[in-house]
Amino acid sequence: MATGKINVSVDNIFPLIKKFLYSDHEIFLRELISNATDATLKLKHLTSIGEAKVEYGNPIIEIKVDKEGKKLHIIDQGLGMTEEEVKKYINEVAFSGAEEFLDKYKDAEKDAGIIGHFGLGFYSSFMVADKVEIITKSYKDEPAVHWSCDGSPEFSLKKGKKEERGTEIILHIAEDSTEFLEDNRISELLRKYNKFMPIPIKFGTRTETLPKPEDAKEDDPAPTQEVDNFVNNPNPAWTKQPTELEDKDYKEFYRELYPMQFEEPLFHIHLNVDYPFNLTGILYFPKLTNDLNIQKDRIQLYQNQVFVTDNVEGIVPEFLTMLRGVIDSPDIPLNVSRSYLQADGAVKKISSYITRKVADKLNSLFKNDREEFEKKWNDIKIVIEYGMLSEDKFFEKAEKFALYPTVDGNYYTFEELQEKVKANQTDKDEKLILLYASNQEEQHSYIEAAKAKGYEVLLLDSPIISHLMQKLETSKEKLSFARVDADHLDNLIKKEDTQISKLSDEEKEKLKTNLEEVIEDKKYTVQLESMDSDASPFIITEPEFMRRMKEMQQTGGGG
Ligand code: ADP
Ligand code: MG
Repeated sequence: MATGKINVSVDNIFPLIKKFLYSDHEIFLRELISNATDATLKLKHLTSIGEAKVEYGNPIIEIKVDKEGKKLHIIDQGLGMTEEEVKKYINEVAFSGAEEFLDKYKDAEKDAGIIGHFGLGFYSSFMVADKVEIITKSYKDEPAVHWSCDGSPEFSLKKGKKEERGTEIILHIAEDSTEFLEDNRISELLRKYNKFMPIPIKFGTRTETLPKPEDAKEDDPAPTQEVDNFVNNPNPAWTKQPTELEDKDYKEFYRELYPMQFEEPLFHIHLNVDYPFNLTGILYFPKLTNDLNIQKDRIQLYQNQVFVTDNVEGIVPEFLTMLRGVIDSPDIPLNVSRSYLQADGAVKKISSYITRKVADKLNSLFKNDREEFEKKWNDIKIVIEYGMLSEDKFFEKAEKFALYPTVDGNYYTFEELQEKVKANQTDKDEKLILLYASNQEEQHSYIEAAKAKGYEVLLLDSPIISHLMQKLETSKEKLSFARVDADHLDNLIKKEDTQISKLSDEEKEKLKTNLEEVIEDKKYTVQLESMDSDASPFIITEPEFMRRMKEMQQTGGGG
């Protein structure tokens, strides 16, 4: 038996860990399972290169709750540690074993899948335990070691009783953390953080229903058996090559990610890059309603298949946070503030890579099957329009595929639209006037009046469209949007107005005055020019700028 002092500069680091390190105490389990996974993958790697002459087999990680003993066990069948290694890796807090491992084998097989750093790792167990034991036996032929520490910098080290290779971590759960002795709580954590980790994780057993035997009577209960309960899928879709997957696999994975989500995604984007940073993932375009606020199923960020967060703000451009799916990258610095993240060079590159991939995917969908793209437009336009508003790079790309639907159900790109209307819809200063409606029913008579004059009327009804129109107007010369019921219509009459009114000018003027008296509100204008079309006897308009001001106040800033 030996005792020693953990080499830390602060006299007692543990209360600090407990208080300040993580606001989220629950992540201790993620850290310990990550270590168990690391240890197993390292052994896999060592056996594969012939360095470890042992059978790798089919190792699993097991989590056990001992409610009476107030203990939580995390058991792996990985490479284990020798006494020297415990002293080195566990006691020298600042020293990172993974780093040394990487250093030593950096030329070997690159994708051995070593888990990256989350911070203090193993020591996060002191957030929930007032005593921690490690019983470990290395794959090397050396006796097992038993390390134990009660939360002060002193530890004890003795020979351990362990026959099988691997490591068992025993947490003596503290009085204020007994929630972690509840099966439900542990299940919840495993579901949250470990659902896609690469080594099978066993937690208890579950009852499996077997098929009834042939000769069973009708009300005989089906036979059951207790089987090991594995909580994870070690080979999630995003770790595979796109060529290995079919459309149905992507849909299946979507359901796996969001079990409560019954609506199918519209399409997916498989992300896969290893230079200049490492990133894999699958993003899905969900069917989005006009409501920007409701979103509980969010993009999940993983690091080598370990769940990190579903708040990807700062990593993914804001407009893409409306998408769903996963991003997995060891190159995203964790445990740093969001403002730091946003300034980080690697993160910036990741963000623009994702933006580019999304734009490229949309562009290819548009080019390869325009009809299908048009059908989906209503469901995806919010993301695209929001992206055009907030990211200039995306704006440039999206100009090729962003669509402007008309009230008649045609879809034009901006270029096509321009071509289509330039002869007919310019004002006296050669400014292109794009007419649009935001509500086909309410603005029916205005739409009909405009159509009667041969104008194209767009149907633009997204909540942020007024911001986007503003942006288009400022980024393009000589362009103006005008809602069909806006006063702009007056300035637009380039084409000969062939209709002859049945009313005399005098009668018209009188009618107009009468109507204006009735309406009172001075911000509206009465126009009689469509008097003789079948649509409406007259129309009442509100200035475009006033209407847009109101709308932008409603949807808030942006743009
Ligand atoms: P990190 O995982 O970032 O290296 P940790 O504090 O989580 O930091 O772990 C420190 C070191 O302790 C690991 O690098 C590893 O060498 C060793 N270690 C921890 N858990 C295990 C385990 N279950 N099996 C083998 N070694 C382990
Ligand atoms: Mg670790």
